[in-house]
Amino acid sequence: MVVKVKIDRQKCVVAHFCLFYAPTVFIPMLPEGKPGVAEQFRLNGKIDEGIVPDSLYEAVKEAEKNCPSGAIKVYKE
Ligand code: SF4
Repeated sequence: MVVKVKIDRQKCVVAHFCLFYAPTVFIPMLPEGKPGVAEQFRLNGKIDEGIVPDSLYEAVKEAEKNCPSGAIKVYKE
């Protein structure tokens, strides 16, 4: 099982809660400051999709729960 994260950057309203709850996974991207997945966790180099270790599951789940626009999805696969 792996932990996958996805950011719907269209839905994102740049509230930055995800950066607070999982700062090692979600990083602000220029120019508009919307979050992207940090480089080391990216899936096939995509900025909106990644795989994170189990140890970060709770953190990314908190980000998912607190994102006001429902832009973050976390699932185990
Ligand atoms: S918490 Fe949600 S709305 Fe806020 S920056 Fe992150 S993805 Fe965007």
